[in-house]
Amino acid sequence: MFCGTFRSPVALKPGPVDDLMLIIRCSACGRKLWRYDKIGPGAVLRCHKDRIKKMFSAVVGDNNRIYCKCGKDIGIDKGRFYKMIAKAFTYRGTKRRS
Ligand SMILES: [Zn+2]
Repeated sequence: MFCGTFRSPVALKPGPVDDLMLIIRCSACGRKLWRYDKIGPGAVLRCHKDRIKKMFSAVVGDNNRIYCKCGKDIGIDKGRFYKMIAKAFTYRGTKRRS
């Protein structure tokens, strides 16, 4: 009897969406800025503060600027999240299944 297509909506996470642990890096100097717990797919346009797991070289400056120690602007503090400047950072992710 074939029952392989049965999926319990409670027991299984929704299919292809993987949570990621991202290392956000400065695009200018390559320093690590922070470690970010990303939920779901898509580009990183905002970083929610409660998902930033560890800060490295990011600095919070005047006018709610977030910048790297090298001086590169990374984003803007919007309260609950950082609005990211797309060209100012790179990231690499590792899949996290938990
Ligand atoms: Zn930098």
